[in-house]
Amino acid sequence: MSTIAKNIAKVVSRIRDAAHACGRDPASVGLLAVSKTQPPQAVREAHGAGLNDFGENYLQEALDKQQQLSDLPLTWHFIGPIQSNKTRAIAEHFDWVHSVDRLKIAQRLSDQRPAHLPPLNICLQVNVSGEASKSGCAPVEVATLAAAVAQLPNLRLRGLMAIPAPTDDADEQRAAFARLRHLLEREDGLETLSMGMSQDLETAIAEGATWVRIGTALFGARDYSGKPDTNQGTPV
Ligand SMILES: *Cc1c(COP(=O)(O)O)cnc(C)c1O
Repeated sequence: MSTIAKNIAKVVSRIRDAAHACGRDPASVGLLAVSKTQPPQAVREAHGAGLNDFGENYLQEALDKQQQLSDLPLTWHFIGPIQSNKTRAIAEHFDWVHSVDRLKIAQRLSDQRPAHLPPLNICLQVNVSGEASKSGCAPVEVATLAAAVAQLPNLRLRGLMAIPAPTDDADEQRAAFARLRHLLEREDGLETLSMGMSQDLETAIAEGATWVRIGTALFGARDYSGKPDTNQGTPV
């Protein structure tokens, strides 16, 4: 078995144990493989070992990778911060966007979604830790933003996403995930909670995660040489 296949087996068993521990069906938790900075070959291997969903943060890197992997039936998720000038390519080349935190970006994604593609699946990113430097809308903005995004014709609003600030305090860590769950519970018709990474997927699952976004535990440590780390708040 390759290292990636072994890592996948470990992560799948962590997900299964965490789901069982809180009485959830493991099938209700999706495994999103975060392949940023990883070469196309790593994605190919992970797909060969059973994964279909891949998350990327850097647009140009993602587009290059998609081109090299166009023979595979993969589902692509954009999970990084979004600048206005990137929305067209994201609307054209992704199936999900987890990191929408303002209406202007959602409007552009809807306007630019090609007519032959199904609606783009959207999660609103929420800043549940309240740090000024992090992306994500404020918790008090969620209801208004969700109502507006739900009206956009070429988007399908699915739920909420968060990247809580890293902390050693287990109670605070769990409380941050719980805040996102409580916000989702106030919205009708939304079912997706994108939360939990390599370090904290068990806690996220206990609080209702339906996508865990896992990079390091699947692919090993990332090499950021030559790339800006646009993902504030994630330990690398
Ligand atoms: C990089 C990244 C991840 C994966 O983090 P790991 O700690 O490597 O599992 C998850 N979500 C987002 C938004 C990321 O940018």
